[in-house]
Amino acid sequence: MTRTALVTGGNRGIGLEACRQLAGAGMNVVLAARDPERGEQAAQELRDEGLDVAYERLDVADSLSVEECARRLADAGTEVDALVNNAGVYPTEGVFSVSEEAFEMALEVNTLGPFRTCRAFVPMMLQRGYGRVVNVSSGGGSFGEGLGPAAYAVSKVALNALTVKVSQAVRGDVKVNAMCPGWVRTDIGGSGAPRSTEEAADTLVWLATLSEDGPNGGFFRDREPIPW
Ligand code: NAP
Repeated sequence: MTRTALVTGGNRGIGLEACRQLAGAGMNVVLAARDPERGEQAAQELRDEGLDVAYERLDVADSLSVEECARRLADAGTEVDALVNNAGVYPTEGVFSVSEEAFEMALEVNTLGPFRTCRAFVPMMLQRGYGRVVNVSSGGGSFGEGLGPAAYAVSKVALNALTVKVSQAVRGDVKVNAMCPGWVRTDIGGSGAPRSTEEAADTLVWLATLSEDGPNGGFFRDREPIPW
């Protein structure tokens, strides 16, 4: 049976590589991105590589956009088996210098975005008795590892808490986990980061394709648990 994965922020960085690897693993992939031109271009790039990838417009900061995306997919008969909450923003300012707008945007994209997509797609996973949710978090949202920049840290700590709450609300073969990709060469990570997007996507793909005896409600890097 061919499963379908939806990746938010799939047009570049870790999200684009996640789309490539998930499609390479034989899944149908919905590359979701907020900008139609950038999203369609990224999906075409992967189709040119022979992969099964379709673009859908999705701005995770806009609840209507999330609802409309879910409705379009449902109308087309597309069932999302794996949801990858990858879209993210990275305000780097300190707690006294970050603007309220930047703080709000971090919460909108990094925390409320996954809240919205989980509410749009997980109930249907529960109905079908199968689903995988991967929340792309960060060691910057881990108390155990030391928190990152103020707004980013708060948004990812809250994403980790959301991961636990959703994992506690599922049953059947539905698994909800968070992961940290490490420090990765993307617009967020910068060109000096040690990891490639290929390396970063490995744990993400593992969690998106877990077998029935896999973990639920965990936080992972390099396929190993890390502290909350
Ligand atoms: P990136 O290259 O900057 O990609 C960010 C992605 O998020 C882009 O596709 C962007 O789309 C999308 N996005 C932002 N706001 C959005 C919105 N409102 N709706 C939909 N998409 C939106 O960064 P990345 O490193 O690949 O980041 C991916 C994830 O990894 C993030 O959650 C980040 O926190 C996490 N992470 C990264 C690192 C690292 O070192 N890179 C470390 C730990 C965690 P546009 O092109 O339209 O802006």
